[in-house]
Amino acid sequence: MLSHALLISFLVTLPGSAIAQAAPSASLPFVIKQVGPGVYAAIDGPDHKAGSNAGFVIGDDGVLVVDAFFTTDAARALVGEIHRLTPKPIRYVVNTHYHADHTGGDQVLRDAGAIIIAHRNVRGWLRTNNINLFGDRITPELKARIEALPLPDLVTDKDLTVWLGARKVKVQAVLGHTGGDLTVSVPDAKVLFAGDMLWRKVAPNLIDGSVKEWSATDADFAAMPDAAHTTYVPGHGDVADVKDVQEFRAYLLDLRRLVEEGRKAGLSGDALVQYSAQKLKASRPDWTISDRAAAAEVRYMDQELAGTKQRPVPKPD
Ligand SMILES: [Zn+2]
Repeated sequence: MLSHALLISFLVTLPGSAIAQAAPSASLPFVIKQVGPGVYAAIDGPDHKAGSNAGFVIGDDGVLVVDAFFTTDAARALVGEIHRLTPKPIRYVVNTHYHADHTGGDQVLRDAGAIIIAHRNVRGWLRTNNINLFGDRITPELKARIEALPLPDLVTDKDLTVWLGARKVKVQAVLGHTGGDLTVSVPDAKVLFAGDMLWRKVAPNLIDGSVKEWSATDADFAAMPDAAHTTYVPGHGDVADVKDVQEFRAYLLDLRRLVEEGRKAGLSGDALVQYSAQKLKASRPDWTISDRAAAAEVRYMDQELAGTKQRPVPKPD
């Protein structure tokens, strides 16, 4: 009789396997969902203990991980799940951007054998701009953790192909969320790990973003060859399809339109937030949009339209 681990690794390497989900582990801070042969999304659980989504690709001779969660506990649990599914070594982790909810567990992945791949701007922002990201919610413990995050080993501002044996993984530089964003796609499985270029039914964080660039990147996602058959793994929210990409892009465009309308009506500050955020929330009852998130989005959109939006500036190596 096959051992449990062997059985699982046999099943997951079966091309076109009909198994949609690996055996659930109730105590995990995320849910593992198979989105293609040997391709998995790790979706943050309802308590948001992982902080964001991640994922991984099992190739011929190793594993590539996409993002590392916020907590080292979640990253350790992810390494455990990967080892449960395959005996192949973890060789890479790609950070889709510098935000700590996606990079907080990097050291765990590196200790498990991964080379950290990121956009070239991530090295300059990881230990500094992540402190601003938390605003008034920063604590001395969190600050110390951020300042000790491992810096990426391999950086790029161009597209990159990673070969896992004969399996091709495409890393692409895209614009919109931070100024240092990468996506990861697996052409043979029609899966795109979009990082925070895509949020499914959750209000996005625009702190470092440009809605202009971001909505253009989402238009590119929706226009990809075979988009109708592509699975999109967002940075936050559940596994998505091309309709979700269009819905998210429409959200960004609605936000811009509502803030433009409010500005034309002479509104600013709290009055502008009141006007735009309420309409945005009311139009999307099935989305999770906290008052704090909606207010921040309106202010950032207002700054972008006014030309005063501050975005992270690339630092010299
Ligand atoms: Zn982010």
